[in-house]
Parts: sequence; C-alpha cells; structure tokens
Amino acid sequence: MAVKLHSSSHDTLSTITCLDCDRSFSVPKHPVRLIMASSHTVLMRLVASAYSIAQKAGSIVRCVIAEGDLGIVQKTSATDLQTKADRLVQMSICSSLARKFPKLTIIGEEDLPPGEVDQELIEDGQWEEILKQPCPSQYRAIKEEDLVVWVDPLDGTKEYTEGLLDNVTVLIGIAYEGKAIAGIINQPYYNYQAGPDAVLGRTIWGVLGLGAFGFQLKEVPAGKHIITTTRSHNNKLVTDCIAAMNPDKVLRVGGAGNKVIQLIEGKASAYVFASPGCKKWDTCAPEVILHAVGEHRAGVYEALRGEHQAGVYEALRVEHQAGVYEALCGEHRAGVYEALYVEHQAVWKLTDIHGNALQYDKEVKHMNSAGVLATLRNYEYYASRVPESVKNALTP
Ligand code: AMP
Ligand code: MG
Ligand code: MG
Repeated sequence: MAVKLHSSSHDTLSTITCLDCDRSFSVPKHPVRLIMASSHTVLMRLVASAYSIAQKAGSIVRCVIAEGDLGIVQKTSATDLQTKADRLVQMSICSSLARKFPKLTIIGEEDLPPGEVDQELIEDGQWEEILKQPCPSQYRAIKEEDLVVWVDPLDGTKEYTEGLLDNVTVLIGIAYEGKAIAGIINQPYYNYQAGPDAVLGRTIWGVLGLGAFGFQLKEVPAGKHIITTTRSHNNKLVTDCIAAMNPDKVLRVGGAGNKVIQLIEGKASAYVFASPGCKKWDTCAPEVILHAVGEHRAGVYEALRGEHQAGVYEALRVEHQAGVYEALCGEHRAGVYEALYVEHQAVWKLTDIHGNALQYDKEVKHMNSAGVLATLRNYEYYASRVPESVKNALTP
C-alpha cells in the first residue's frame, strides 16, 4: 500500500493519506509508547524488567527439574551446592539485566566462566503493572550507575536437590547508597502441593516508600513466638540463640527468601540465624519486602493519628482489616488508636544478630558474618534475648 504523510508544525497529529483508496487517517506524531517509556524512572523500569526476568528464572528452575539432570556441583562443602539451575538462572538474570541496563553493578552468587549467553536465556520484557505505579520521590533522580543489584539465582539449593521445592526462591535485590530499596522474589514452585489445577509459581515485589505486592499479608497470633531458621546449616550458636528466645515452636526450612515469606504470611514471627553463612544476595530482596510491609502498616497508623479518616478507612478497607474498620466506625476510636500504637511500637526489621542494619554497596563484603535477625513485629522481644556468648562469637 502506498501512503503519503502530511505533517504540520503546530499540532501533535500527522495525517496519512492512502494513495490507493484516497482515505486519510490521523496518527500521533510521536508514538505514544515512546512518550510513556521516557517518563518512567530508571528504578521503576529496572523493577519492571527484573519482575519479568524473575518470572523467566522461575520457569528455568522448573525446566531443569522436569529434564531430570540437576548437574550438582559441590562448592565449599556438602551443604553448599550449585546445580544447573543455579548456573542457567544466573546467566539469564545477569545477561538480561546487563543488556538493558549496561551501567548497573550486578553481583551474582555463582562464579561462572565468562562467555556468550544463549539467546534463549534472555528476557526482554517488563511488567506493565509496575510501570503504572509512581516512583517514590526520593528515588526519582537515581541514575543507572548508582544502583547495585544482588542476585541469588536459586536460594535454597540444598532443599531443591532434595525435592523440597517450595523452599526455593529466585532473589533480585536492588540497592542505592548502600541501602536495600527494591526487591523481587520469584517462588517457582508456589502451590505445587495444591493439586494439578493450581497455578504454579508467583512473584512478590516491593519498593520502599511504595509497598510490597503479590501476596496476602497475614500475621502470627499476638503473643505466639514461632521462630523460623535454617534446616541444612544448623550449629550450636544457632540452637543456643533460639533456645534463649523461649519459642512456642521452631520451623526448620530452607532459604532466606522462603523464611521472610513465612514472616509476611503469618507462619513465623521471627527469622533467627545466629551464624555466618548467609550472604548479601540472600538478604537484599527479602529485606526490602519485609521493610516495605512494615512501612505500609506504620503509614496506616500515622494516617489514623492525623485523623485523616477518609484515607484511613480506604487503607483499612484495602487491607481487609474488617475488625479495625468496624471498631473505627463505632464509638471506640480511642481503643483503636491504642491498639495501633502498640502495634507501631512493635518494630519490623531485618538486621544482623547485634541489631546492625545490613549494607549493600558494591564494595561491601559478601558474607553476613554476624547472622540474621528479622521480624515483622516485636523485634525487641527477640533482639533482647540474644545471649552475650552468641553476640561475642559473631563479629560483624
Ligand atoms: P538456610 O537458612 O540454611 O537455607 O540458608 C539461607 C541462605 O544462606 C542459603 O542461600 C544458604 O546457601 C546460605 N547459607 C547459610 N549457611 C551457609 C553455610 N554454612 N554455607 C553456605 N551457605 C550458607
Ligand atoms: Mg541463597
Ligand atoms: Mg543461591
């Protein structure tokens, strides 16, 4: 079909006339997608891309199991393993990110020889729902070269090799000025025990100042102390520390990502690992999800304090906190303020066992030598019970 393009300088439309049938059409001078793309910040484009890349990673993890050859290699010990899935997923994530964002610093867990990466492993998509979200104002000016991405291609490898498939996650954490600010967790085998009709796999993501998405927030009943900890890297320091916390129950599961998911889904009230072993790629993305959940709840409290009732009603309605909403509608506002105040005191945090925040700049040592302590509420309860002997044995 032959066409002729007319364009005037004073409007945003061009006219195309078809020379075969003589009909004319108006089209925007600038493709709409181009205008949209340029208006998104680097951070939100990176998170949207990392979401799609993490989904592809999840499908690679499932494919390797389906093919049946895990290609297991021992790294530092019999409980420190690498499989074909760890290798392929790291190549996929790092190459896909580097092609789109060449100035990023990307740090992956696995030591792999340099070389061409198969085109089949490259993911070019970006999750459009994320691009519809506003970028928190404090991150709008971030440049690509300011960001560090921590990649754990497969967290819970030991459990993966033993068929405990829902322990496994893919972790992409994003740090700025040494702080973890955005994270993506793909759980490739989420739902795998829920029957053949269940949708397999999910992706949880979050940005500080925006929120965390892709799961239903649930909490352990108040007053219950359920500790989640390592299944395959246990030692005396870990058990001493947990015993001093007098828990009602101890869960032993694989993966740092999996354990933080347990905190936000009401299965555990604290993640306690009083030992070296966990690295920055294990904690970066999970820390963001935990902190974004905590921040959001604090925001609801703040809104209440400020008497911005309409906003609070809306926030609570969205959270499905029917009980609190009902109480607010009635006469018991003072009681609700009090309840939320108590909740607000119960700080959420992921730190080392001494209570120090973890740093994620590119120069930092990879090992979290002083362990991990994380809670969604009641951080002080656990932090105050870490024995001095355990603290003395773990140098940050
Ligand atoms: P776990 O809670 O044992 O599943 O460990 C969480 C993350 O830290 C996983 O990625 C483990 O591989 C890593 N990790 C913890 N302890 C060790 C260790 N002693 N050696 C190697 N990796 C470890
Ligand atoms: Mg890991
Ligand atoms: Mg790993």
